[in-house]
This record gives sequence, C-alpha cells and structure tokens, in this order.
Amino acid sequence: TQTQPQSTTPADPAKAAAIRELSREHVFVSWSAQAKVDPLPLAGGLGARFWDYEGNSYLDFTSQLVNVNIGYQHPRLVAAVQEAAGRLMTVGPNFANEGRAEAARLISERAPERMRKVFFTNGGAEAVENAIRMARAHTGRHKVLASYRSYHGATSGALSLTGEARRWGTEPGLPGIVHFWGPYLYRSTFHATTPEEESERALAHLRQTVLAENPQNVAAIILEPVVGTNGILVPPPGYLEGVRALCDEFGIMFIADEVMAGFGRTGKWFAFSRWGVRPDLITFAKGVNSGYVPLGGVVISDEVGASFEETPYVGGLTYSGHALATASAAAAITIMEDEGIVDNAEQLGSDVIGPALAELADKHAAIGEVRGLGVFWAVELVADRQTREPLGAEKVAAVVQACKERGMWPSPVSNRLHLVPPCVMTAEEAREGIAALDEALSAAL
Ligand code: PMP
Repeated sequence: TQTQPQSTTPADPAKAAAIRELSREHVFVSWSAQAKVDPLPLAGGLGARFWDYEGNSYLDFTSQLVNVNIGYQHPRLVAAVQEAAGRLMTVGPNFANEGRAEAARLISERAPERMRKVFFTNGGAEAVENAIRMARAHTGRHKVLASYRSYHGATSGALSLTGEARRWGTEPGLPGIVHFWGPYLYRSTFHATTPEEESERALAHLRQTVLAENPQNVAAIILEPVVGTNGILVPPPGYLEGVRALCDEFGIMFIADEVMAGFGRTGKWFAFSRWGVRPDLITFAKGVNSGYVPLGGVVISDEVGASFEETPYVGGLTYSGHALATASAAAAITIMEDEGIVDNAEQLGSDVIGPALAELADKHAAIGEVRGLGVFWAVELVADRQTREPLGAEKVAAVVQACKERGMWPSPVSNRLHLVPPCVMTAEEAREGIAALDEALSAAL
C-alpha cells in the first residue's frame, strides 16, 4: 500500500524522464560507478517531506546528506536568501561584509568560551583541511591522529584522515596521519562488555598510540564527537573527557569535527557540549545553514588564534565567507533559535524516535541494536542476533525498497539504516515514518 500524500508539484513523468536522461548523459555522480547509478529526480520539498515528479511524496529520514536540519524550503530562510541576493551577491575576503560578520558572531556565541573567531570555507572537507593546517602551524608539530571509524571529507588531506575504506583508493595520501580505534561497544575492538570498559580501553589504546608516535610530534587528534557516517556512535561515559585530558597532558590540539553532528543534529548546537569538553578547533558545515548555500568553517580558540595575530595564516579561499552563504547561516541560526528547532530535535529523539525504535527492536529479530540521540539514529540490521553477523546487502536493499514503497526514505550505510530526519520533523511524522519501517521489515524479511 503506497502512501502518496499530495505534493505541491503537479505530476510530470515526462519531465522526470528528461532529467534522468540528461543526468545519465552528462552528470558525473559522487562515489559511484557511473553506469550503475540513476538517482531519482526531485521535484520539491517542504519541512520533512520531499517529492518526485511522479506524484510520490516521502518522509525524509536522510536530510539529503544529513544536512537539511531546518527542513526543505523553510519560508523565512528562503526569504532571507532572496533578500541577501538582492543586496550584494558576492563579496571577497578582502572586504568586510555584514552577513559574514553576523554569522561569525552567531556561531562563536554558540561555541564554548574563548572561541571567538571563525574561518569560513565552502564545506566540511575544506574546514578539516584548514583545521589541521592551523593545528600544525600552532604547535609546530606534524602528526595528526584520526579514528578508523571516521569520515572527514573527500579532499586529499581530509580523505587521508578518514579512517574507513574510502581512503584506500587515494593512498598513500597525506604524510603524518596515524589512525586509532575509537569506542563502539556493539562491535568492540577491545572485547569490552560495558560502556565504562569500552571507554577506559579505548582511552588506553589512544594513549598508547600517542606515546608510540612521540607526543612531541603530535599536532592534533581529530574526531567526530558522535561518529556519523561510520555508525552513529555515541561516545561512552568519560571518553571525550579522557581525550581532552590526554591532549592537555601532551599539548595536542583537540579538533572536534562537528560537520555532521553540529547545529541541531544531536539536539544541541554542538554535540561535544553534552560532555562538557572544550575543543581547540571545531569544524562545521551542513546544518549551519542546512546547505541552502554551500558553507563550512572552523571555530578557533583564542589560544590557537593568538598564533596568527602577528604571523599571517597561510591559507584562504576566494569564497571564504561568501555573502549569500553567510547571510543564510545568520538567518538559519536565528530561525532555529526563534523556533526552538534544536530543542525539537532533542525531544523528538528522547520522546518519540528513541522509544519507537526500542519497540521495533523488541519486535524484529533482524534488529541487532538501535542507538542515537536527537535526530541522529542508527538501526543495525543483523542476520543473527547472537553472532551479530551483519544482514546481507540484498536484504538490506529489500528493506530500503519496502520503506520507499511506504513513503519513507531511509539512509542505508552498509548493514545499517541511518534515520537522520530534519530537526523540524513533527512527532506525528516521526511516528508515521517508523510505522512504515515496521511494516517494511515485516514485508521484506
Ligand atoms: N566531516 C564529517 C564528520 C562529515 O560527515 C562530512 C560530510 N559527510 C565531512 C567532514 C565533509 O563535508 P563536505 O562533504 O561538506 O566536504
């Protein structure tokens, strides 16, 4: 039974076919074997729904690439972008600009104390490149430690930091990068059985890695406070605090990559704030303006910033703090604050998504674990609950297809379904989406 709520775009299958044809002919698609990829043409969206040209509407549990935190076509944000476009479309970094100044203030006000400056980029990968460059210049050291279970972006340095398999194709990559294992209790590297044990052992392993690399050569440890693409892994108690303490002990910069977790995804402006740690550098992108215009950046502690007061920072971008991008960020943050959108994400997680997924896990043997917070959830699908063997790709694909047929669009990553809706999703929409997943699991497996 396919649900097809009304969209505001009239069905136009001929248009969809034309877009598909042109795309197949001329568009080179990210991360894909070009002959095997054929993305659905999108016609429009509003709030937590998007729709195609065939008259099908979907509850969005992807937020595109986990970035549309404010939802589709938020009327106030669309109006702010239009207004900014009417003033002055482009202002380079050699001139000051109102939107850039305002966005930087609003971002730094949401960061910990004494993190007053923001360097703007066009997206997350460039933010990561600049954060590690700043850490290296500030410390005079060259090594950077990153987790195996991480994604930090697809430019050369960011992909070298990325721990998962997508790094392999571009190796040897950037020199001086060393990987370590972070906590993941469900598939523990450390044979831990409790969150406390996992935290303690992961910290011992990280410490050993730092010592083996010579702490005097380690500029930074970069990590996602809540790991995103590689599993939506919420850190166990004490882990982030332990990383902070280790960094303090050896003068290492703590870079929190908040590109995915930041700006509402976890129900907070920044995920690390849940654990009370203060990073030295914060990378952000995605949710800062929900990708209405490309934007990313680095929030810089006053200590790191001091290194570049008299000595120039070697780095820059033509579009650093682009007028439209920063005006949209200033507007997005103001709207999210006014409308309680970050709090909505928090409550949706604790009151609706969390409990509903726990119920599903009781009911379906294929669910090994559900975990997450805010609007940042993973459903880990397994072939066998005892051995925790991941569910096979064909079966996962069947579940995904069954969800889509029921008007719910999840984000599959290996054997997991990531459920990462816009922060503006309503409780009713979340329940409807999870009910569709419930049916889909019964139908497909
Ligand atoms: N860091 C993290 C944690 C991310 O999730 C991503 C994107 N998924 C990036 C960096 C890279 O961001 P972008 O694609 O904007 O370059």
